[in-house]
Amino acid sequence: TPIQALLICGGGGSEHDVSLRTADFIEEQLQNVSDIALTRVVMDASGRLSDRNGGVHYLSQQRQLVAEDGSTRDVHYVVPAIHGYPGETGDLQSQLELFGIPYFGCGPEASKLCFNKVTTKLWLTALGIDNTPYQFLFSNSEEEIAKATMALRQWGAVFVKASNQGSSVGCFRVTNEEQMAEALTQAFALSPYVLVEKSLKVRELEVAAYRYAGELVITPPGEVCAPEDTFYSYEEKYAEASRARTFVEAQGLSQAQLAWIHEASKRAFAGLQLKDLSRIDFFLTDDGNIYLNEVNTFPGMTPISMFPKMLAHAGHNFSEYLSSLIRQAIA
Ligand code: ATP
Ligand code: MG
Ligand code: MG
Ligand code: MG
Repeated sequence: TPIQALLICGGGGSEHDVSLRTADFIEEQLQNVSDIALTRVVMDASGRLSDRNGGVHYLSQQRQLVAEDGSTRDVHYVVPAIHGYPGETGDLQSQLELFGIPYFGCGPEASKLCFNKVTTKLWLTALGIDNTPYQFLFSNSEEEIAKATMALRQWGAVFVKASNQGSSVGCFRVTNEEQMAEALTQAFALSPYVLVEKSLKVRELEVAAYRYAGELVITPPGEVCAPEDTFYSYEEKYAEASRARTFVEAQGLSQAQLAWIHEASKRAFAGLQLKDLSRIDFFLTDDGNIYLNEVNTFPGMTPISMFPKMLAHAGHNFSEYLSSLIRQAIA
């Protein structure tokens, strides 16, 4: 009998729609794997799970997917294909741990601390990994805004970021005080914590780090190039008219730079106690400094996304990668 795997996508966060596209990719990858039967459900903002026909289900402690008419289907393994809350934030993983259901991806703690951009930076600093200079704001009060204004004066241009988002939601480039007020209002509407980061003129490098056949694989960095007049925003990531370009392997990096990125990725993967996969994003400045920007514990797997491309470029087959992780977890 095949392994019953449950793909949960959607979720209550701003990346709900992106998650559906990631789920399409995963579904396609497991379609022809004969020993794994995949059921897909979409989670809405209230945590309700619906199937394709609109039927509502819940996940039970008996490790079953229970339909409204009481019929059940065993759940041996879960693929939480949710960017943001409650998947990438680790909340769903906590429930799966509690129910004893194995799942794809990082555990609750690593997920939580990587999804929060503030805790990520604290951990990176503790691990001795350079990350972008920043100020941390815990409220949109006058005192806290003063810190943001100082940062803007000192650095000339900054990125204001909600601490708890992905896909560049709640992320704004700010070059004057008017923009600052607007960006802070929008970021605080999404998150209780906000970062004001120094805006770096950079090349953006991304590494896929994942476990394949028991070994940690760290790919050479790929590169994303946003258009000159903007940054790698939500629109540049997903809109039809996106002008961003991606390269599966960045060119012209020195051996020392490649080695630095490799070591930092390895250290981040170990120190943050990541599992199965992650995409680690770096900035390379004009003067040759490299900063770790962030760690994505459940990177996008849409047609534009870097993680599946880098995995393929490393000579690995996503379908084999995921199905062998599933078989291992069940064995
Ligand atoms: P992801 O979709 O990768 O999860 P995210 O929402 O977590 O994105 P970041 O990766 O931190 O957000 O930032 C989004 C984009 O904003 C970056 O890819 C980059 O283009 C730009 N950016 C962010 N911070 C900086 C910075 N300090 N200097 C220059 N550009 C930046
Ligand atoms: Mg991110
Ligand atoms: Mg993300
Ligand atoms: Mg990023």
